[in-house]
Amino acid sequence: MIKFYLSPSLTLYLFLHFYLSINFVDITFVPVLVVAFSTASYNPNDFFASQTLLFLLMKEVLKYVHNSLKDIDPNDIGSTLKELANLFPNAVTFSSSFSYEDQVITDFIANNASEISIFTLDTGRLFPETYSTWNSTNERYNVKVKAYYPNHGLLQDFIQDKGPNSFYESLENRKSCCFIRKVEPLKRALAGNSVWVTGLRAEHSPERQHLSRLEWDDANQILKYNPLLHWTTEDVVEYIRDNNIPYNILHDRGFISIGCQPCTRAVRPGEDFRAGRWWWEDASKKECGLHIKQ
Ligand code: SF4
Repeated sequence: MIKFYLSPSLTLYLFLHFYLSINFVDITFVPVLVVAFSTASYNPNDFFASQTLLFLLMKEVLKYVHNSLKDIDPNDIGSTLKELANLFPNAVTFSSSFSYEDQVITDFIANNASEISIFTLDTGRLFPETYSTWNSTNERYNVKVKAYYPNHGLLQDFIQDKGPNSFYESLENRKSCCFIRKVEPLKRALAGNSVWVTGLRAEHSPERQHLSRLEWDDANQILKYNPLLHWTTEDVVEYIRDNNIPYNILHDRGFISIGCQPCTRAVRPGEDFRAGRWWWEDASKKECGLHIKQ
C-alpha cells in the first residue's frame, strides 16, 4: 500500500533531481512543487514519504542557491538581492513593517533590485507614526508598498464574538487576533513567491540567534533571506543616519520593535528588545506566528 502511494512522489522527485543536476530547473517552479508535495502529504499513507522527499527537494534547492551565490560576498546585500531576483524572476518579495531594519532593506532593494516586490501587513491597529513612515517610504523611493489586510469575515466574527481588545484577556485570544490580522494575510502575501526577504536580526531574541542568513522556512514553505541577521543596532542606526532614510519616529521615543499600537510600548533602558511587545505575557511566548521555526 505504501509502495503504491510512494511511487508517484518518488518518480517525480527523481525526475526533478535529474533535471536539477543537468539543466538547473527553472527554480520558479518551487512553489508549485511545494504545493504538489504538500497535497500528497494529506494522504496519511504517504505523509512520511512526502515529507522526506520534500526535505530532500529543499536541500537540493538550497544547494543550488548557495552555489549560485558562492562568488558573492555574503555581506554584499545589494548583489545578493540582485542575484536572488535573477534566480527567481518575479518571485522574490520583502515584508516590511517600516521598522529601522526594514527601512534599511527597502533602501538596498530600491538601489539594487527594484524588481523585488515590497508588501506590508496592515493589521488595522498600527500606530499613526507607522502610516506616516509608510507614506514617506513610498515618496522617497517612488514605490507603492502593497498592503495585505485581514480577511473581512474572519475579523468581523472574531470581534463580534470576543470584542475589540480581547488580546489582553488571554494568550489564546491574542494568538487568534495575530493569526487573523497577520498570519493569514501573510500566507496570501507569500503565495506564488519563492524567496521571502525579512529584517530579522539575531540580537532580537535568543531563538533568532540560531537562524541562517539563507534558510528554508518550513511553516511558510519558502526560502527565507535574512540579510541583516548579523547587523548590530548600531550598524542599523548608522546606516539610516548616513543615508538619510525615512524612519519611524517612535524609535526616537524608546520603541524598538514596533507592531500594533495596543500591543507595543516603549522599552526602558536595560530592558530586553522584545520587552515592549505583549508585555503582559510570558516572555517565552512572544512571537506573533510570522516567524516560527518548526
Ligand atoms: S499585535 Fe495585538 S492587535 Fe496586532 S494582531 Fe497581534 S494581538 Fe492583534
